[in-house]
Amino acid sequence: MERIYIGMGSNLAAPVQQLRSAVQALALLPGTTLVGVSAFYQSDSLLPGQPRYTNAVAALESSLAPLALLDALQAIENGQGRERLERWGPRTLDLDILLFGDRLIDEPRLKVPHYQMHLRAFVLYPLAELAPAELQLPGGRTLEELLTACPFVGLERIPTA
Ligand code: ATP
Ligand code: MG
Ligand code: MG
Repeated sequence: MERIYIGMGSNLAAPVQQLRSAVQALALLPGTTLVGVSAFYQSDSLLPGQPRYTNAVAALESSLAPLALLDALQAIENGQGRERLERWGPRTLDLDILLFGDRLIDEPRLKVPHYQMHLRAFVLYPLAELAPAELQLPGGRTLEELLTACPFVGLERIPTA
């Protein structure tokens, strides 16, 4: 079993519900236990003209292989109506593998750690609810160092009860 962190995002078709459905789907993955979900956070889209995003992070323990997990995540995205019309376009659901144990993965379909996680407050702050600040990423930097370099700006933590 390896500890895996999934970044979730939505800005179409009731984003909070989309993330809740995604969490339920993650909990049903074979060989996998859902061990935590962060609060939900809202922020403006990085690209102008899109609805605001809702983001969260989920922690899994899983025996799935990385590409098998990616396939499963893409099936969940597709099942929730994800359409890929333009890069970084608005979406019902995005599920990205942020970290997979301490693995460094560089395959055509899968790069882990996620290539922009260190720049994204909407990833790092929810991740910090689930992972210790001392967590060391492949490459050597700790989560705490990434948080220090990425201010909590433009994020709104929302009640999810
Ligand atoms: P970004 O990657 O900037 O967050 P995005 O999530 O909108 O953008 P997608 O359209 O969801 O991008 O995915 C594009 C491709 O990225 C996927 O088909 C997948 O093969 C690839 N990919 C590479 N690394 C990862 C990863 N760590 N998690 C999820 N997909 C990844
Ligand atoms: Mg993404
Ligand atoms: Mg994605």
